[in-house]
Amino acid sequence: MTEQPLLYIPKTSNFTTNATGRLSYSTMNTLETCERMYQLEHVLANGAAREESEHFSFGHGFGEGVAHYLVNQDKDAALLTAWLAYWPQIETEKKNQAKCLNALNVAFPHLDNILQDYEVVEFEGKAAVELNFRLNIDKTYYFAGHIDVVLKNKWSGIYFIFEVKTTGLNLHDIDPLYKNSGQALGYSIAMDRIVGEKLSSYGIIYFVAQLGKDYTPQIKVLPYNKTLLDRLNWFMTLGLDVEKLHRMAELDAYPKRGNSCLNYMRPCRHFGICGLHALDRVASFVPDKEVYQFEYNMDELVKEHIERIATPEYQSKAAIQDVEELVAATNNNNTYCSVDDPFGLVEDLIEEF
Ligand code: SF4
Repeated sequence: MTEQPLLYIPKTSNFTTNATGRLSYSTMNTLETCERMYQLEHVLANGAAREESEHFSFGHGFGEGVAHYLVNQDKDAALLTAWLAYWPQIETEKKNQAKCLNALNVAFPHLDNILQDYEVVEFEGKAAVELNFRLNIDKTYYFAGHIDVVLKNKWSGIYFIFEVKTTGLNLHDIDPLYKNSGQALGYSIAMDRIVGEKLSSYGIIYFVAQLGKDYTPQIKVLPYNKTLLDRLNWFMTLGLDVEKLHRMAELDAYPKRGNSCLNYMRPCRHFGICGLHALDRVASFVPDKEVYQFEYNMDELVKEHIERIATPEYQSKAAIQDVEELVAATNNNNTYCSVDDPFGLVEDLIEEF
């Protein structure tokens, strides 16, 4: 009699997320949240890929509608675009197609205000909207991103990555959510090629629909100035994360972060099963078929940024920008900054520059 295996292990099928080595803003967020969650969602064939959700459909619909309006200023067409882009049609009481279109209606006057001072940039004869890029980090991993819109300030000539977001957080000040976020910062690497010149300073605008309990969301527009050094730091962070990914794969060790098991009052969807390892199978490689408009190699970009940052012109410009930010932080009563300048440091710096 042939011996039956104690446990039947199902055949695994190809897995299409990170078996390609593709990283994105959302996969890096998962990695930061919990490494075991990252392994289950992006490395293993027997894990569970990220679920479609109302959050994705709502964000996608709202983002497409906003981008369409910035380019065409046609409300009906923008609403139709948002309605069609709300896909898959997963709806809850808080997030659904009707609320998405309503958020867009509320956003129109704010977009009109933005268009007083900014214009949508053209790239290769078309509006610079929904552009995608690929940043090769090493032989295994690359980072892929999609840029919502690129804008140019009509008066200062400074270029901005415009990123559309939605949040359910009802805080008065949502600045800490976005000020140091790496998302649009990473996306800015494509900017030099879009505008056809090497920019030493540029900006990011987060256009946020803050969804409350009632039917009327609040719209917040959060602009930030960024420098080449910010971008270089983002490359460094990405490089360190990729080093960690290689080390974890080598050791086959993906830590469980217990403090992430409960998030926004909801347990993680892997809770109760993430401790089971007998069925862990690494997914087989699946090539990425997406065509990218821009492709970069990280080692070349890092070298180029270090050279550009080292120039005296860049150094003095950056110092002035730092002083301006410090002054703004000390003057702003709403800030979280603890600088109270007991030794007159800010005044000394202003005099120096
Ligand atoms: S339940 Fe907790 S430890 Fe398990 S994957 Fe989710 S966040 Fe990580």
